[in-house]
Amino acid sequence: MSEKNTLIQELETLQAKAEAKLASLSGEVALAKWKTEYLGKASPVMQVFKRLPEASKEERSQIGQFANQVKTVLEQSFELKAETARQATLAEALKSEQLDVTLPGRAPLNGRLHITTQTLREIYRIFAEMGFQIYRSPEVESDENNFELLNIPPHHPARDLWDTFFTKKEGVLLRTHTSPGQVRAKREFASEPIRVVLPGMCYRYEQTDASHEFQFNQVELLVVGKHITFANLKGTLQEFAERMYGKGVRTRIRPSYFPFVEPGAEMDVECFVCSGKGCPVCKQRGWLEILGCGMVHPVVLKNGGYDPKVYSGFAAGLGPERISMLRYHIDDIRNFWANDVRFLEQF
Ligand SMILES: [Zn+2]
Repeated sequence: MSEKNTLIQELETLQAKAEAKLASLSGEVALAKWKTEYLGKASPVMQVFKRLPEASKEERSQIGQFANQVKTVLEQSFELKAETARQATLAEALKSEQLDVTLPGRAPLNGRLHITTQTLREIYRIFAEMGFQIYRSPEVESDENNFELLNIPPHHPARDLWDTFFTKKEGVLLRTHTSPGQVRAKREFASEPIRVVLPGMCYRYEQTDASHEFQFNQVELLVVGKHITFANLKGTLQEFAERMYGKGVRTRIRPSYFPFVEPGAEMDVECFVCSGKGCPVCKQRGWLEILGCGMVHPVVLKNGGYDPKVYSGFAAGLGPERISMLRYHIDDIRNFWANDVRFLEQF
């Protein structure tokens, strides 16, 4: 038997075997396996091409042609079978995953902004309308910016007002208030006038309880310029209180102490729950403390690059969480960062 006949016979047997097997298969996985076995690089049909040199010169083209023909026939059979299998899979899927258009729809879950973010944005909006810009500064600060340049030198007893998280690196800490941003803003803009809002997270090394949390937001105001007076401070804060709590809301200013302002004060608004009559929210006082403020201390102005003989300024700091607590009667500050959806969903 010549080489030609051997190879052609092999191909014929192979074709018959492959087609028989293909006909018996179902399922896309089995089909893919068949394809590798009979049409892949290592398949017997492909091997015939490699064995062509074994045949005589005259027979080579004839065997080659025949092998090509077998290959084409097998490919066509495969495509036909594969298409049938795809259709079957689709039909099966349609049957098992029947769409019931009478089922009620599922409402998409809408996320929302955190209550503090909402309050912060409201505060930004109010001050933006009054011409303030937002100035952000780092939460990890130097002792110098957080204390020293704000008129709180090392060993000054006022440092006890801020229980501080120190990092392992000496002189680096988590800011205890937004005031270091004051130093940065002044040094950036000196001696231009400044009107900024300094917002962000602050940290205190504190035992947490219903009214103390070791992280909280603060929003600080800073205005620096020529002829800035306490009257500007009072007018700005009164305007803020009216836009935040309602037109005509009564406020009062009480003297207080902060090392970086002189004079220093705290502002109260008339309790908006009882209109000043006295209730549990205001602890029967009729007033709610909402912020600390004062005229920027001359030393602090100078540290920021402004000559206190020419420039003056005021600053105020308020707590967005406290504002939300008063507004929504939230009795535990730890709720804000406890990540309890039942709490967060209410706002
Ligand atoms: Zn009240």
